[in-house]
Parts: sequence; structure tokens; C-alpha cells
Amino acid sequence: MQTGKMLTGGCLCGGVRYRVKGEMSDVSLCHCSQCARTTGHVFASADCAADALAFEESRTLRWYRSSQKAERGFCAECGGNLFWRKIGGDVVEVTAGTLDRPTGLRLKHHIHCASRSDYDEIHDHLPQHAAEAEAD
Ligand SMILES: [Zn+2]
Ligand SMILES: [Zn+2]
Repeated sequence: MQTGKMLTGGCLCGGVRYRVKGEMSDVSLCHCSQCARTTGHVFASADCAADALAFEESRTLRWYRSSQKAERGFCAECGGNLFWRKIGGDVVEVTAGTLDRPTGLRLKHHIHCASRSDYDEIHDHLPQHAAEAEAD
């Protein structure tokens, strides 16, 4: 968890730049099929309160309604995958790779392991959850 400094980040082209004014969780690795299709592999994200996320630049930010309950934020210029949030929710998942370094974060666990692709082997000792993680 990062509580000290303010984390910042953005996509590859700079069309989206954000900062997080508050706590960020450690990084969760989601192996579900929706995350695979939009990220190309595993969705690595840290969450923060929705109202802690502020934009310095968002001219290329677009939101895609990826399911009944959620939408995903991405850059329409460079294709960078940036955010996931539940519709009407108060938490935003921020893709960990878009955070400026160092992040001070650590990997936390794997989720939706039951729906991962056949090539997707896990070779670390982090906790694995078949679906969503229990509250932590
Ligand atoms: Zn971009
Ligand atoms: Zn997922």
C-alpha cells in the first residue's frame, strides 16, 4: 500500500495523465477472460477511491462499457489500458504499469484464476483466488 507520496501516471502518448490524491492498494493480478482480451494478458491494477483520482490531461481518454456492471478507461490515441471501474462504484482500479516509477507498491495476489487461459501459468507464491478475492 502506498500512503506517503502522491502517485502519478499516464498512458504512452501522454494524452492521459492522472494523479492519485490518497491511498493506493497493492497490485492485484486478474486472470479473467475480459481482462485478457483488453490488456493482452493479465490485468495488473492497484485501486484507489474514485474521488482520489484527478486528471492533469484526459483529452484522449475514452470509456468502454465492458459488461453490465463495469467500464474500462483507455487511451484512444496510443491504446493504453488505464482504468476499470464498476458503474456507480466508488473505487477505481488503475493499471499498475501506467504508474510513474517508483510506485512503492508490491504484488498482492491473483484473482479469477479459474478462468485463465491455458498458457497462463502462475509461477510465484502469491495467494490465488478462483474468482474475486475475499475482502482484504
Ligand atoms: Zn495515450
Ligand atoms: Zn479481470
